[in-house]
Amino acid sequence: MKVFLGGARGSFPVSGADKTRYGGNTFALLVEGRAGGQVLIDAGSGVRALRHRLRPGGTLFFTHTHLDHVVGLPSLAKVWPRRLILPRGDLATVLARVFSPPVWPVTLPAAEFAVPQVPVEIDGLRVAWHPVAHPNGCHAYRIDEPATGASVVVATDIEWAAMAPGAQDAFAAFARGVDLLVFDAHFLPAEYAAHKGWGHSTWADAVAAARRSGARKLWAVHHAPGRTDAALDALAETATAEFKGIVFPRGETMTETLHE
Ligand SMILES: [Zn+2]
Ligand SMILES: [Zn+2]
Repeated sequence: MKVFLGGARGSFPVSGADKTRYGGNTFALLVEGRAGGQVLIDAGSGVRALRHRLRPGGTLFFTHTHLDHVVGLPSLAKVWPRRLILPRGDLATVLARVFSPPVWPVTLPAAEFAVPQVPVEIDGLRVAWHPVAHPNGCHAYRIDEPATGASVVVATDIEWAAMAPGAQDAFAAFARGVDLLVFDAHFLPAEYAAHKGWGHSTWADAVAAARRSGARKLWAVHHAPGRTDAALDALAETATAEFKGIVFPRGETMTETLHE
């Protein structure tokens, strides 16, 4: 199993000389199985960086439909997915509202929007989802590859501290023993108190979730729009002292190979 990160930034695409190394594009992630199966999660502006790998006619899963997770969708026209899945089920309606004149001049190509039963099987990959705390709702995804034993859980846009102990336990059970946990680390621990209810976690929350789940590696994503390369370097150093497997990935270029 290979994991490709198109964009690691949260909330808004950003640019600037102090944000070149970690990238400015918002979240999109591709999982590719040994048998060639492709699972694309979210279509933030970073999905453009994944287009060269994508085959047309695939399946695109959405964690939720906040703008930073759908804004890159029109850029997929030449590799348009056959199926678009949002677990809560109203994806066609929401996308028709966003990508229609005069908000956007081009309407999206046709696709299937039916929500299938879990797990969804895609060429040797098995996809399941789990609800998490976030304004308007959001889902985490787990992708397993039974043939190799590889697994990844994607939990961006999750407010760990707002989840009751039972909900944290349920998440930990969902993510149990995963090879790679991709988790929201938008805020610094010192920033969180002023942003309760915004739907995001801190790197310390991400470490707590990784420990509870028994995750081996941890990618801390959804970097705050204003967080500079230097600030992320410092953050990575502090967080690594706490949890050796944590990485603050660089969007557009980050890849990981699991169990090959
Ligand atoms: Zn987001
Ligand atoms: Zn969101």
